[in-house]
Amino acid sequence: MSDCLFCKIAAGEIPSKKVYEDDVCYAFYDIDPQAPVHFLVIPKAHISSVSEVNGGNAPAVGHIFAVIAKLAKELGLESYRVVSNIGPQAGQSVLHLHFHVLSGRDMTWPPG
Ligand code: 5GP
Ligand code: ZN
Repeated sequence: MSDCLFCKIAAGEIPSKKVYEDDVCYAFYDIDPQAPVHFLVIPKAHISSVSEVNGGNAPAVGHIFAVIAKLAKELGLESYRVVSNIGPQAGQSVLHLHFHVLSGRDMTWPPG
């Protein structure tokens, strides 16, 4: 989508600190980290949020979770949290599906 920040980051049109990339997804460090390790994993194809996941694009989401597991192992993350905010009340600020991966500090439950 031409006017989407994360589409532009995935396409390399806006610089980011890359963690991983393949044909389906792109992972990069969050510009405003909320934990010692905080990166985002996004599909390269535009999907607005989890609420737009369906049978057609679900394989990309499954692939993203396999990538998260692989990256966590490679980065030596023993414990981590995967978060996706959907809609304004939950705190979604970028309308392109993304999974936050946070690690390296104690975390509380329930989240704020
Ligand atoms: P949300 O608030 O939608 O759950 O998460 C969006 C995340 O994207 C936020 O954690 C925010 O810090 C991050 N973010 C917003 N703009 C940029 C950017 O230009 N570059 C990077 N690397 N992260 C960004
Ligand atoms: Zn997008």
